[in-house]
Amino acid sequence: MGEFELIYRYFASSGAKRSDTTIGVGDDGAVLQVRDGYDLIVTTDTMVSGTHFFPDDDPRALGHKLVAVNVSDLAAMGAEPAWLSLALTLPSVDENWLSAFAAGLHETAEYYNCQLIGGDTTRGPLSLTMVAKGIVPRGKAISRSGAKVGDYIYVTGTLGDAALGLRLCQGLHEVSKKHQTHILQRFHYPAARVALGQALRNIASSAMDLSDGLYSDIQHIMARSNVGASIDINKLPLSQALKDSCDSTTAIQLALSGGEDYELLFTVPEARRGSLDVLLSPYGIPLSCIGRITGAAGKLELKQAEQQYTYQHNGFKHFS
Ligand code: ADP
Ligand code: MG
Repeated sequence: MGEFELIYRYFASSGAKRSDTTIGVGDDGAVLQVRDGYDLIVTTDTMVSGTHFFPDDDPRALGHKLVAVNVSDLAAMGAEPAWLSLALTLPSVDENWLSAFAAGLHETAEYYNCQLIGGDTTRGPLSLTMVAKGIVPRGKAISRSGAKVGDYIYVTGTLGDAALGLRLCQGLHEVSKKHQTHILQRFHYPAARVALGQALRNIASSAMDLSDGLYSDIQHIMARSNVGASIDINKLPLSQALKDSCDSTTAIQLALSGGEDYELLFTVPEARRGSLDVLLSPYGIPLSCIGRITGAAGKLELKQAEQQYTYQHNGFKHFS
C-alpha cells in the first residue's frame, strides 16, 4: 500500500466533519473558518515509542490517548476543540495496527467534535505527533500566568491513578482485580476536561492540565504567575482504587509526582469561589480545593495537618 492510499484509507475517508472546515485532508493546506471575535489556540504533543508508550501497546488506546492529551491542553486554556493534524512516523505498514489506531483516533476526535484536517506520513521509528487547534472567545483563554496571592488552588477528579496504571503495566505494582479496570482505564483512556475547562473561563485566574504530575506542574503556574503555593497533602483527591492499592505514603507520592492524569489544575480568586459549586456542579466532575497561592514567589510548601510535609521529588524529566 502506498502512502496516499494509506492516508486515504485510514485518515481521510472517515472521521467527524465540521461545518467550519472549508478544506480538510487532501490539499497542500487546510482551510479553516475561524469565527469572528474568537482567538485560535494551538497546541502540539508527541508520543514516542519507548518513551511515552510500549511498542506493543493497544493501538486503539494510543489513537485515543494522542487525541485526548492534545484536547486536554485545549481544555486547560478554556478552548473549544475544533481541528487536529497528525504527523505519523511508522517503521512499516501494519494494517491491523493502523486500522485500530485510526479507529481509536477517529472515535475520540468525534467525541470531542474535532475534525482531522491534515498531517504528514513518513517512515521511521514509531512516533505520533498531533497538533490540535481550538477556539475561545477573544481574550477569554485561561493562561498559567494569572494566579494571584490568596487564590484558592483546585484540581478536578483524582490524582495518581494513571501513574498507578503505568506501574501496573510495568509489573511494578499489584492492583486487586476489583480495581484493575478502573486503573488501566485511567492510564490508557484519559478524559480531557473540555466542558469544565470552558466553564472555567470566567472563574479561574489560571489553569493548566496535569500531564507531568502536580508537584512539577504547579511550579509552571508559580513561575508564570510569579507566586508561591501552599498545598495541603490531606486534601489531595485520591481514588478508592489508589487508596486500596497503596500504603498512604505511596499514594501521596503517586498523587504528587505521577504524570498523565490529565486533570485540570486551576486557581480561583476568593470573590469567585461562590460561583464555583453552582456553575460547575452540572458537569459531575469532583473538584477539590487543595491549597492557596502565596506571595513567596517560587516556593512550594507542602503541609499535612499544619505540619511541614517532607517529600523527596523524583518526577520524570526527558533531559536530565
Ligand atoms: P504535502 O506533500 O503537500 O505536504 P502530503 O502528500 O504529505 O502533502 O499529504 C497529502 C494530504 O494528506 C495533505 O492534505 C496532508 O495534510 C494529508 N495527510 C498526510 N498524512 C496524513 C495523516 N497521517 N493524517 C491525516 N492527513 C494526512
Ligand atoms: Mg504540498
